[in-house]
Amino acid sequence: MLRPTSGRVLIAGGAGFLGSHLCERYLDMGWQVICLDNFYTGHRNNVRHLLQHPNFELVRHDIVEPYLAEVDLILNFACPASPVHYQSNPIKTMKTSVLGTMNLLGLAKRVGARYSHASTSEVYGDPQVHPQPEGYWGHVNPIGPRSCYDEGKRAAETLIFDYHRMHSLEVRVVRIFNTYGPRMAPDDGRVVSNFVVQALRGEDITIYGDGSQTRSFCYVDDLIDGILALTTQDEIIGPVNIGNASEFTVLELAEKVLKMTGSRSRIVRRPLPQDDPKVRRPDLTLAQKHLNYQPRVSLDMGLEKTIAYFSAHLKA
Ligand code: NAD
Ligand code: UDP
Repeated sequence: MLRPTSGRVLIAGGAGFLGSHLCERYLDMGWQVICLDNFYTGHRNNVRHLLQHPNFELVRHDIVEPYLAEVDLILNFACPASPVHYQSNPIKTMKTSVLGTMNLLGLAKRVGARYSHASTSEVYGDPQVHPQPEGYWGHVNPIGPRSCYDEGKRAAETLIFDYHRMHSLEVRVVRIFNTYGPRMAPDDGRVVSNFVVQALRGEDITIYGDGSQTRSFCYVDDLIDGILALTTQDEIIGPVNIGNASEFTVLELAEKVLKMTGSRSRIVRRPLPQDDPKVRRPDLTLAQKHLNYQPRVSLDMGLEKTIAYFSAHLKA
């Protein structure tokens, strides 16, 4: 049984968007936090406010190389998550997912730590089942431009479950659906930050394809609550979907952002990237049943906070 209020946690990818929120939450709960990051998409600024905390340590390290530390818990959130970034060096993305995960699983085995992993709704690919339950095996192109990420994450899940079966390693796997909020990088490239930044700068809002594809957007605080609930409890190991089941078209998102920012940006069309999933919405039954998980932040509320963050951040 892992007590939520003590111990040492290693957070890989801790200087990224989600990782930095996790570092903060674990420090608040009284843990000692080692934040590992190679700063590929993350930034020191995301954890700058934690650097003076006596229980916080920031280490520049690439998880493709082994790392040794005595810890009770490992959270692996190290991997570029935006299509633009994970496709810019696809071989590195695959190495991070597979070799990086193997290294951290090896460490967990060696020191007897629990291992909790950030998997993704991308394991369902361009889904033919809607909404997506965890039992759906997915519809993934193994050789396309998104495969480095999708198949990398699928291979990571395979490794995690093999370590669990072979070595009785304590594991947790969360499949994260599109999450947004403060500390996304302005140049991250994912849709929410792109639209908000474009609207605030008065630049064109770039809709890929006709904008009829859907996503279900989760505010970061809800997601972090779900991850902490999964990681701490002992009833299930996953994979468990965490996200928000309210589904919107990309065009609806663009119109909402325009209205909420009062921006005069124009909507322009760009080609739809290859293999871009047409729909996505989590089936949250498992998370509701076992983790009592219920997202609380509506898209309007979350966008308001995100717009406020980027307004301040872009001026600074
Ligand atoms: P992010 O790009 O902000 O964070 C990823 C972090 O990992 C960055 O700080 C980056 O520098 C670091 N990193 C990348 N490769 C590394 C390596 N080889 N060694 C050490 N550090 C490395 O993205 P995010 O949204 O915070 O995503 C975090 C995790 O959650 C990722 O594993 C991602 O696949 C997963 N995820 C996120 C979402 C989402 O909507 N935010 C959805 C599904 C899955
Ligand atoms: N998208 C868009 N304009 C952008 C960025 C993304 O229309 O500037 C679309 C993208 O084609 C996809 C959806 O928004 O259909 C979500 O893209 P994102 O990169 O955020 O994440 P994905 O869910 O595809 O991994």
